[in-house]
Amino acid sequence: MKIDTGYIEALIKNPDASHGNVSSILDKASLGKGLNLQEAAALLSMTDEGALAALYKKAGEVKERVFGKRIVFFAPLYLSNYCTNGCVYCGFRSANGSVARKALTVQEVVREARALEEKGFKRVLLVTGEDPRWGLDYIISCVRAVYDDTGIRIVHVNAPPVDTEDLRKLKASGAGVYQSFQETYHRPTYEKMHPWGRKKDFDYRLDCMDRAMEAGFEDVGIGPLLGLYDYKFDCLSTIAHSIHLYERFGAHAHTISIPRLRPAEDAAAGEAPYAVSDEDFKKIAAVFRLSVPAAGLVITTREPAPLRSVLMHIGASQMSAGSRTDPGGYTGGEKETLEQFSTNDHRTLIEVMRSTIHEGFLPSLCTTCYRVGRTGAEFTEKTSSGQMEKFCQANAILTLKEFLFYSLKNGSREAVQGAIERALADVKDPAMKKAIIEKLGEIEAGKRDLYF
Ligand code: SAM
Ligand code: SF4
Repeated sequence: MKIDTGYIEALIKNPDASHGNVSSILDKASLGKGLNLQEAAALLSMTDEGALAALYKKAGEVKERVFGKRIVFFAPLYLSNYCTNGCVYCGFRSANGSVARKALTVQEVVREARALEEKGFKRVLLVTGEDPRWGLDYIISCVRAVYDDTGIRIVHVNAPPVDTEDLRKLKASGAGVYQSFQETYHRPTYEKMHPWGRKKDFDYRLDCMDRAMEAGFEDVGIGPLLGLYDYKFDCLSTIAHSIHLYERFGAHAHTISIPRLRPAEDAAAGEAPYAVSDEDFKKIAAVFRLSVPAAGLVITTREPAPLRSVLMHIGASQMSAGSRTDPGGYTGGEKETLEQFSTNDHRTLIEVMRSTIHEGFLPSLCTTCYRVGRTGAEFTEKTSSGQMEKFCQANAILTLKEFLFYSLKNGSREAVQGAIERALADVKDPAMKKAIIEKLGEIEAGKRDLYF
């Protein structure tokens, strides 16, 4: 994988953001087939308020056509904060003496996963620092234990890049999406931000998703860490990365995450060198949605609650909720200094779900595609051709019903029941509606884990 730095820089310098060009790009975006780098660069350079409003509206429409009204929820589960790397922005960096180090035992990981299951989560993302003492075999043991000993249905992994053979082993453990962020695609900045450790190797990281796909991962997650370098450069490079995967493997990145730099305990970076404003962050989300419509756009608890609500309307499709970034955070008592960075949205899962419903969207705890093999090229094809929305809507309804019956302890029942009823009324196809109603009845009769 190569990033054509010269070409991307030229696009940033001379974007054609004339009124006529922008409106023809938005027309093309309506088709839900994505945009090329030139078109994405033009949208990223927009500053006119009216044009930005049109961009946000289009991004919301395209999201709804591709995935329906659903927003899928997940939780990160931090395994270990031991790290041998020196990433200047991260609380886990090896030189940080003020962070207490902890690697969960496999039994502790199971306890954490059960605590998340108790709240209603069905998908978790295992996250870890990079240390050979808690390397791939440890991560694989954790993936297996979560499947074997909890009701969590899909385990995704955000872990440091490894070789193809190791990625094959990770895939064989049942891991769903393999996620690793390039942080910045700008080599000189990357070198400054990663002064030591294995992560110093820019190319090894950049090629990791090619290796993952060669190793059998059909779904991979990519993303820039916003704030390290010019967002236009890093966003266009991320889009180029996804286009490269599509051209080589027939599948776009399954997810694009857009983490924005947060304060971290004793991080050497201090302020973000290229801080991204809320306005630019909204534009970035919308441009990713229109450029790579097939990708899940992930917004985490790094962002504040009001902004997360706005982002639901302009392309976000997956969100974390109630997150802890310290190993053991879901079951631990008093908090020690173990965090990777401080989160911004501290609401619980049900609080975020309620606000999702309030915004007119449908919370979903669906995990179906990974489990029925609707992955990789097939997922890209189905999302691009508008065939996924009906599955997303139906499965969101079923998972919400299961949540209502088995996870929701008190309060909020009316809000969730109302969302189910409205979503059912929205289902156009009579045969699908009948099939959903039948399955809802089966859930009431005691069945779980039903899907289309
Ligand atoms: N340690 C592995 C790695 O670096 O690839 C995997 C997990 S790392 C804990 C997850 C991601 O958190 C990083 O890839 C980076 O994008 C993000 N991150 C690190 N420090 C951050 C900060 N201060 N604010 C926001 N996100 C941060
Ligand atoms: Fe370690 Fe990842 Fe943090 Fe870098 S970002 S210090 S690799 S945990």
